[in-house]
Amino acid sequence: MAVLTESIQVERVAKSRLSSIDFNNLGFGAHISDHMLVVDYKDGQWKEPKIQPYGNLDLSPAMLALHYGQSVFEGMKAFKNDAGVITIFRPERHHKRLLKSLERMCMPAVPEELFLNCLSALIEVDADWIPTTEGSSLYLRPFVFASEAKLGVKVADEYKFIILTSPVGPYFAKPVRVKVEEEFVRAAEGGTGFAKCAGNYGGAFYPTMLAQKQGFDQVLWTDAKDHAYIDESGAMNVMFVIDGKLITPKLSTSLLDGVTRDSILVLSKSLEIEKEERRVSVAELQEAFKKGTITEAFGVGTAAVVSQIAMIHIHGVDNNLPAVDVNSFQLRVKKKLNEIRMGLSPDVHGWNYLVRG
Ligand SMILES: *Cc1c(COP(=O)(O)O)cnc(C)c1O
Repeated sequence: MAVLTESIQVERVAKSRLSSIDFNNLGFGAHISDHMLVVDYKDGQWKEPKIQPYGNLDLSPAMLALHYGQSVFEGMKAFKNDAGVITIFRPERHHKRLLKSLERMCMPAVPEELFLNCLSALIEVDADWIPTTEGSSLYLRPFVFASEAKLGVKVADEYKFIILTSPVGPYFAKPVRVKVEEEFVRAAEGGTGFAKCAGNYGGAFYPTMLAQKQGFDQVLWTDAKDHAYIDESGAMNVMFVIDGKLITPKLSTSLLDGVTRDSILVLSKSLEIEKEERRVSVAELQEAFKKGTITEAFGVGTAAVVSQIAMIHIHGVDNNLPAVDVNSFQLRVKKKLNEIRMGLSPDVHGWNYLVRG
């Protein structure tokens, strides 16, 4: 716990927008809280952070992030339980990943202490924006981008680190239908797939849009070389239950090291399921559908936690998954994770970072 709000300059809004928000109908990412935090990087160092009213920034159209893509982000959640305790889920782990993303994009490291203090201070200021109904949270979006104005291709010398927050409701996603991608590529080994950088998303939009036109909800990305092995899906890692075992593609430079993925792998032990992190081939999935040994498939990520996959389209064939019941691994692990985050289940792994006790 590190709350140093006193040391961070705060300019408060004249009038809060809180009363205009319908907390029973939040959706995801529709509303941004009253304040944002901004830190400038200049002359080789991070300057004083400032919390100010959320609003437009004054930036040059020549800023390097727009032209050459130095822009990375994180996504995590803060919770407030019935006792008013405010926690962030695994921010240290998100910070480690941010460092990897920044390094890959030649951007300056954000020190852990700065990261954690800024998050805590901003959450304190907008604490009333944290929803408390079950499944709700305050989504946190820290991001860093090159703000220097220059047209020549170069690594920027000036950056901004900004945090926005957004109250989000429970994610009532319907089961998704995914298509194994055999033409387009999201990321190749050696590329930027493991970094949470803006360009990965821009490049994924077109194939995803085509898949949606064909009636699918999402793309299941495969390896760039042969389209023979599963990487991940959209903005989520993917997991399968085959022969009663939890199976997920092992990490590589072409997929994102999800915090939800890691948390679920850790929890698999106490939920008494054997886990395997290894390459998962498209052929193995086809075989498992043929034999009926695949019982579950789901995406995992901060936004939805667990998102049920109802159908996987492989080489022109729709492969349906059985219905999910309360004994399924995906619903049990989702419940467990939610209980830990709301303080209803012991936090034996030390995942809840205390903002306000
Ligand atoms: C953010 C993200 C995930 C999920 O990571 P979490 O840390 O679990 O939220 C998975 N894949 C991609 C491409 C992502 O950007």
